[in-house]
Amino acid sequence: MSKKVLYTFLAVLVLLSLVLSACGAPAGEEPAGGETKLVGISMPTKTSTRWISDGESMVKEFEAMGYDTDLQFADDDIPNQLAQIENMITKGADVLVIAAIDGSTLTDALAKAKEAGVLVIAYDRLLVNSENVDYYATFDNFGVGVIMGSQIEEGLDLKNAAGPFNIELFGGSPDDTNAFYFYDGAMSVLQPYIDSGKLVVQSGQTGMDKVSTLRWDGIVAQARMENLLSAFYTDKRVDAVLSPYDGLSIGIISALKSVGYGTADQPMPVITGQDAEIASIKAMIAGEQTYTVFKDTRELAKQTAVMVDAALKGQEVPINNTETYDNGVKVVPSYLLTPFSVDITNYEKYLVESGYYTADQLK
Ligand code: BGC
Repeated sequence: MSKKVLYTFLAVLVLLSLVLSACGAPAGEEPAGGETKLVGISMPTKTSTRWISDGESMVKEFEAMGYDTDLQFADDDIPNQLAQIENMITKGADVLVIAAIDGSTLTDALAKAKEAGVLVIAYDRLLVNSENVDYYATFDNFGVGVIMGSQIEEGLDLKNAAGPFNIELFGGSPDDTNAFYFYDGAMSVLQPYIDSGKLVVQSGQTGMDKVSTLRWDGIVAQARMENLLSAFYTDKRVDAVLSPYDGLSIGIISALKSVGYGTADQPMPVITGQDAEIASIKAMIAGEQTYTVFKDTRELAKQTAVMVDAALKGQEVPINNTETYDNGVKVVPSYLLTPFSVDITNYEKYLVESGYYTADQLK
């Protein structure tokens, strides 16, 4: 053997051993009978604390079951989410759990995922226009909206009070199918009162085409509320605001405060929300936000891990809805968890006693 051949042979050996050690079993327990499987978890943003909790709870659940995880947040930037997901596929993810920024933008990436044999779970936000979605893990989204409508019904005592009351309506992001379920659920309770004249939308702005809030952006909601107040409420009071997300509610509250709401003479309207975010629970304690909807993200994370584990083991995947979530190409088999109405009387039970937050976090 010439020196040159020997050196090449040795170099190849060294390279091979390096490659092999890099491919070796990653840290964490290896499930019996195979390599540790990798779960790519793609969350939309960190600006809302719920998605951070979702991501962290999933890492905990999956790792406890012996999976590896790759958790990424996309900063509400669609190309960023796409790149992160493609990177997960390249890295050999066996599973993708995706809460999309815009549920319609990932069709190509999902096709690639399917080609690579990746299991795809839509996480709390439906992935649309794609057949390559295996399951959807979420909450009863229409039910979330019904809770919001019922909260306004309760807060204004619409069943008994004569009214009329003024209300303004806010919707979520139009690229998130949830926003339509929330709106429709809320309107299933509120529309009869609007029809009878007990509730009046002074702006006349109703319907998702008029009330939606792109990217669930609190600043956008604040600006719209300011405009509504100066255009329609200089000599009238707004008695209720339908808000489908706590981040919007906080913006709406700022707009209301800036024109004098939140005093004994001019109390805050009834304001709804969603996600039981810390800022909103604090606003509730301060008497500014009336309601929120609590969706226990720990439970959703657990349910998702159970569904993934069953699917990968070829067992029956627990689902409880095969009718509602048509994504434009197919009805995605879903598991819907139960949302809860939260107000000042029960936030401690749902959020503190359950360990979701510590009492200190709400101070
Ligand atoms: C989720 C809500 C959340 C909203 C804004 C929706 O898809 O279902 O819980 O409030 O996105 O992040």
